[in-house]
Amino acid sequence: MEKPKVATASLAGCFGCHMSLLDIDDRILKLVELVQIDKSPINDIKKFTGRCLVGLIEGGCCNEENVHVLQYFRENCDILISVGDCAIMGGIPAMRNNIPLKECLDEAYLNGPTVYNPSGKIPADPEIPLLLNRVYACNEVVKMDFHLPGCPPPADTLWHALVALLEGRPLDFPYELIKYD
Ligand code: SF4
Repeated sequence: MEKPKVATASLAGCFGCHMSLLDIDDRILKLVELVQIDKSPINDIKKFTGRCLVGLIEGGCCNEENVHVLQYFRENCDILISVGDCAIMGGIPAMRNNIPLKECLDEAYLNGPTVYNPSGKIPADPEIPLLLNRVYACNEVVKMDFHLPGCPPPADTLWHALVALLEGRPLDFPYELIKYD
């Protein structure tokens, strides 16, 4: 029988949430027995090979490519999960949300104390994904089915969530997996 598929993506994130997933240690062998990893930076598969049961999304949307990837995941995954605080509410990248985009670009490419930019131009190559006016949480762009909070969520929380979904059980976390202190 074909195994259920799981896909993952990192949008405007730091890959810490993916690292946390890999922190399930030897349970990764069990995971590979249970599921087929589809499109993911873990295996570098670029396109979906079929419909996925679960999509894990790290990071919010800071540029148009992030939006397209997130929409692509929504189209191809039955259950879409915001993994970590960046996906849930923008996280550190969203610190720019109170500053106009032009000011952010001027500081990054023209006025910042460490900037060396003899051209005096802000990069605008069509190959570079267009920055959005602010960073958007995933649920502001598409419907998300679950949120797993934390920066990053603990490996045990990710494991617990995945196994519950694969077994068709509700996500019912023990207290120690959802307390943050
Ligand atoms: S939630 Fe934390 S660990 Fe995850 S992508 Fe954001 S900054 Fe990195």
